[in-house]
Amino acid sequence: MSRSDTKVIVVGAGPAGVSLAYLLASRGVSVTLLERHRDFSREFRGEVLLPSGLEALQQMGLGDVVTTIPHIAPTAFELYANAHQVFRIRLHSESFGAHAPTAVSQPAFLKAVIERARAFPHFRVELGVTVRGLLRTDGRVEGVTVRSQIGSQTLHSDLVVGADGRNSVIRRACDLDVRKHGLDFDIVWFKMPPPAFLGGQSALRAYVGRGHLLIAYLAADGLLQVAWIITKGTYGELRRRGISEWVEEMAHHVTPDLGVHLRTHSRSLTDSFLLSTVSDRVTSWSVPGVLVIGDAAHTMSPVGAQGINIALRDAIVAANHLVPVLRQTSARDRIVAATQAIERERTPELARIQRFQAIPPRLVMGHTFWGAAFRATVPRLLRFEAVRERAAPVMRPILFGHGDVRLQV
Ligand SMILES: Cc1cc2nc3c(=O)[nH]c(=O)nc-3n(C[C@H](O)[C@H](O)[C@H](O)COP(=O)(O)OP(=O)(O)OC[C@H]3O[C@@H](n4cnc5c(N)ncnc54)[C@H](O)[C@@H]3O)c2cc1C
Repeated sequence: MSRSDTKVIVVGAGPAGVSLAYLLASRGVSVTLLERHRDFSREFRGEVLLPSGLEALQQMGLGDVVTTIPHIAPTAFELYANAHQVFRIRLHSESFGAHAPTAVSQPAFLKAVIERARAFPHFRVELGVTVRGLLRTDGRVEGVTVRSQIGSQTLHSDLVVGADGRNSVIRRACDLDVRKHGLDFDIVWFKMPPPAFLGGQSALRAYVGRGHLLIAYLAADGLLQVAWIITKGTYGELRRRGISEWVEEMAHHVTPDLGVHLRTHSRSLTDSFLLSTVSDRVTSWSVPGVLVIGDAAHTMSPVGAQGINIALRDAIVAANHLVPVLRQTSARDRIVAATQAIERERTPELARIQRFQAIPPRLVMGHTFWGAAFRATVPRLLRFEAVRERAAPVMRPILFGHGDVRLQV
């Protein structure tokens, strides 16, 4: 048994956890960040930072981190319907100010932020430590129970922040109610060598039609990242049919240049894996002594590449409310009030973004009359620049966030 002298325990060193731990420690609040993995070389993490996330990083004083790690900014966005190009737009940095969408290596990003945080005496990080449950006294949470190589321990704190992602132990331990927001679907996710036809250009391509959506872009490691979105539960059947038949199906869905590339590198697909997507939100983000943020509070669908960006914005709002309280006091009621204020401030953006994320899968993959009508007409209309300009405001919250999030501490 050990007693920690930390004010805050943050569970999970994903984007939400590392950025909040960094903000608290840099502002004089003692924080211990616990991560069950020993390193960050995990796959299937979101990799695209949007203007909203880049702006959040800049506010945190971490704007330059992106330039110190592998990164690549798509130079164009191309939309294809039934394998024909609908439009191609160049992504000018002028359209995004200083913050053009950028794909980063998420492991390198997390490591870099932790390195910055290590400069603060109030920061402690423990890797290879898995949180198993919560420590409760008189109905209030006072810390966590953990397991690591050295065995089981208990750690005490004034506040536990669950930033432990979509399968959050903290969410479960607090028995937080969850509501789903959208259509679940599956993604076949794999990387392959970069195609020569891109000529080093990092265009992001989206292929819509025939009940699937395929997205391909150059990742920060120089490989082509492919996401093939399929109806939930159909992966087993795909696997049974064998890789070559499955590659054919994808190749028919895309333009001939990418189709040939997929066939040529079909062996890479043996390393593909299935990601089950979820979109949900807890109905309350806190209980006395605990706050959940990031995917633990609201698991984000990959639609619109929102998760990291939203997690960074959660961290800013959490720091705004927690720093003034935790610097002065350990008074329970004030900490509870701060956690409730965080939920109130973050909910409108989450509700708006998750509502938006639910729409494209229904339109692209749904079997409704509306879905079919959409697929038949909208790509044709989007050929016209005037139509795209009219549609642009709808995309604004996805790129820049909904509402102003300012770091105030
Ligand atoms: C296929 C796919 C593509 C995506 N693409 C994008 C994208 O391009 N851009 C984008 O912004 N978002 C994207 N996302 C979403 C994004 O990855 C997540 O929303 C984001 O990582 C959430 O951050 P987080 O810090 O809340 O949680 P996570 O990143 O899940 O981090 C949680 C951390 O907690 C640790 N942990 C879990 N349990 C414990 C425990 N018991 N004890 C200790 N540690 C624990 C985990 O190991 C992990 O490190 C994508 C998601 C998917 C599925």
